[in-house]
Amino acid sequence: MRLGIRVRGVVQGVGFRPFVARLAAEMGILGWVRNTPAGVEMEVQGSAELLQAFLRDLEARKPAPARILGVEHEEIPERVETGFRIQPSQAGQAPRPSVPADLALCPECAAEMGDPSERRYRYPFTNCTNCGPRYSIIRSLPYDRPRTAMVAFPLCEACGSQYREPLDRRYHAQPIACPVCGPRLISGGLEGEEALAHARQTLLEGRILALKGLGGYQLMVDATSEEAVRCLRERKRREDKPFAVMFPDEASLRSACRASATELATLRSVEAPILLLERVGELIAPAVAPGNPQLGAMLPNTPLHLLLLAEVGRPLVCTSGNLSEEPMAIGEDEARSRLGGIADAFLEHDRPIVRPVDDSVGRVEGGTLRLLRRARGFAPLPHALPYGGPPILAFGGHQKVTVTLLFEGQAVVSQHLGDLNSPLGQDLLARTVADLLDFFRVEPRVLACDLHPDYASTRLAERMALERGLPLRRIQHHHAHAGACAAEWGLTPPFLGLIWDGSGFGSDGRLWGGEALRIEGWGFQRIGHLRPFPLPGGDRAVKEPRRSALGLCWELLGEAGASGSLFAESERTTLLTMLGRNLNSPRSSSIGRLFDAVAALSGLRAGPGFEGQAAMALEFAARAGTGDDSYAFGLQDGVADPAPLLEAMLEDQRRGLGGEALARRFHLALAGLALAWAQGAGLEDVVLSGGCFQNALLARLCEEKLGAAGFRVHRPALFPANDGGISLGQAWVAAQWGNEV
Ligand code: ZN
Ligand code: ZN
Ligand code: FE
Repeated sequence: MRLGIRVRGVVQGVGFRPFVARLAAEMGILGWVRNTPAGVEMEVQGSAELLQAFLRDLEARKPAPARILGVEHEEIPERVETGFRIQPSQAGQAPRPSVPADLALCPECAAEMGDPSERRYRYPFTNCTNCGPRYSIIRSLPYDRPRTAMVAFPLCEACGSQYREPLDRRYHAQPIACPVCGPRLISGGLEGEEALAHARQTLLEGRILALKGLGGYQLMVDATSEEAVRCLRERKRREDKPFAVMFPDEASLRSACRASATELATLRSVEAPILLLERVGELIAPAVAPGNPQLGAMLPNTPLHLLLLAEVGRPLVCTSGNLSEEPMAIGEDEARSRLGGIADAFLEHDRPIVRPVDDSVGRVEGGTLRLLRRARGFAPLPHALPYGGPPILAFGGHQKVTVTLLFEGQAVVSQHLGDLNSPLGQDLLARTVADLLDFFRVEPRVLACDLHPDYASTRLAERMALERGLPLRRIQHHHAHAGACAAEWGLTPPFLGLIWDGSGFGSDGRLWGGEALRIEGWGFQRIGHLRPFPLPGGDRAVKEPRRSALGLCWELLGEAGASGSLFAESERTTLLTMLGRNLNSPRSSSIGRLFDAVAALSGLRAGPGFEGQAAMALEFAARAGTGDDSYAFGLQDGVADPAPLLEAMLEDQRRGLGGEALARRFHLALAGLALAWAQGAGLEDVVLSGGCFQNALLARLCEEKLGAAGFRVHRPALFPANDGGISLGQAWVAAQWGNEV
């Protein structure tokens, strides 16, 4: 029997053909395999039984970095065959492969690094078809060495023969290198081992190192030294926001974090994200994540990190090389000017970084990995989305921005680009758009952006729409949040979107963020929302939870009820005047701001901090709380009124109930609200998304309550519930739009 097989997905640049050849040889199957513009195709010949097993193993034993989106096979006439060959690539047609993501160091390469008899002993840039840089070094497609940052490093003879040997682990591994022909380490005037020793000394002395990593510069400092970490916070102008920590090995990680088997496997995976883990013990300095029971932990994911961490022998803070919210620095000169005032020393190399790719961040909940930041290891892998219309380009929101290109049944979502407040961020967005269009040679026919008129992403989309004469779909922020989850799980409307968020521009021009949306076709109906309350000072309320508290009390209890002790008398008078005269006090239905208000009122977090800090404090407090007692919202015509909740909470407080109990009752009240809205909508499928659902406790309570009542609950996993998912959601809505016209 002979089969023709076509495999679509991420099957190039990941060692797929050598794997197929080895598998066929092992099973005694004859035929050939080759790359095509669409993926990989092969013809295989053997008994029907063998071919069945082959098809099964093709998916079951595929190389870890490969992603199969589809396998098609058909029976064809048998031929005379003598063995199994890897054929040259089939050229022709427009290139439509996928762009591979960067891959964490594989165990074989790690083992070679520790073996003094190997050519690549202690070589910090070793890699193979199973591991190494990809997206961060690719300039254009098709993915071949001359179109990567490795063009400057001609292969030596030994590397060349490995590159050409089909059964070698380095067969056609584009970035391969060795100490003879590849990139080298540099630190000031030092090179190689001396440069490494200098970096080690810097870190052991508690000073700050700027490391040119895989997808950008990182700042590192001894994570066990309170003084060193505080110094980094001061210089980086970052007050409380947690830092991630890289551990030398698993044993060290487990001495500071609790990690399940699934979590350990995820940390060791080819994506190797940062995971939020429960913190234990006293090893890590408190300043790494002040007041936070969790720790963002990761393991070394490049040979350079492995080497450095082994040399230092202790956990290191490992954070993006930037000032807060700007993109990471990637070039040497840029790093000098932007990080010179922060770092005491630089450890660099001469392999250029083509684009910034940050570390991915996630959390494992009940066995499911949910990303909070999708970048290294995940971006820009395609996500299958059944859509055959004209290509759509979506520009995302304003924070945690990503860009999505939807074409030919796949959505390609860019890496996390950060915020658009700085010119650097805006440039990166424009460059990423250009990159995606160039990679796939796709002409977008429809553009999509946020409804917010002032986002830099909106302005960029408007400019392109004008220049190219393209239709621009302006998509409501929370509609897009719901769409992203639908895109991820293949959900078709109608369904209910419970989208709880910081804020987004509403269809009525007001601030939304506590929404129940009935998603139907390309549109939606706002069937429920939180009763809006004013935010004195507008945007300033985002960073200062007590302003939300004052606005909420003023709205629900009147001026007399807003007399608490959160403000100095004079400031309170000013703010009350603003509220009374309706000056710079926009009303918002945001549940994110309700979290802020409740956190401030329950004494957990009132003063300035990073966005989401108060909500996190409330979540952590609620986790420590117990019992089933819950507050309740009033609900009329879909509008959720927090007045009864607020009154009950203030009463509990007068009775001396602690913040933990208050926080728990508040979380349960929100789960009750989710159920009430779902029952009112009468739709089987319910999506939970928006920034508030990064709160694992809130998500779990809502999911349990809805699930027990028979609803099918869908939550974002690989495309974040925060604004990192917005561009995918915009593309999804624009695709629905197209289908209805
Ligand atoms: Zn490897
Ligand atoms: Zn070499
Ligand atoms: Fe949002």
